[in-house]
Amino acid sequence: MKDCIFCRIISSEAPATIVFADEFVTAFFDIHPITPVHILVVPNEHIESVNEVEEKHAALLGHMIVVARQLAFANGLDQRGYRLVINTGPEAGQSVFHLHLHLIGGRRMPFRFQ
Ligand code: 5GP
Ligand code: ZN
Repeated sequence: MKDCIFCRIISSEAPATIVFADEFVTAFFDIHPITPVHILVVPNEHIESVNEVEEKHAALLGHMIVVARQLAFANGLDQRGYRLVINTGPEAGQSVFHLHLHLIGGRRMPFRFQ
């Protein structure tokens, strides 16, 4: 998708600090971190949101969580705690319409999202 910022990051047309990449997903630091560790785990395939997820994507979504778990360990969050968040649609505040999993941690988080 030419106009999608995350597709452009995945294809190296746009810059990002990439911390992990394989055949299925790319992970990079969020440009506006809300916590000391804020990484986005993004499928290489353009899927707009959870609303577009189908049964055929089940392994991909599982892989996104496995990668997020590895990155949580690599960033020393496994004992401290962290959140994995997927915003979907306007009332959840989704602003980029390419599916992404937020890995946030490194400080105590309030129950409410900011
Ligand atoms: P959403 O609000 O859709 O759940 O999350 C989108 C996230 O993408 C936001 O946290 C925002 O800071 C991040 N973001 C938007 N554009 C860029 C970009 O060009 N590069 C990076 N690294 N992050 C971005
Ligand atoms: Zn995209």
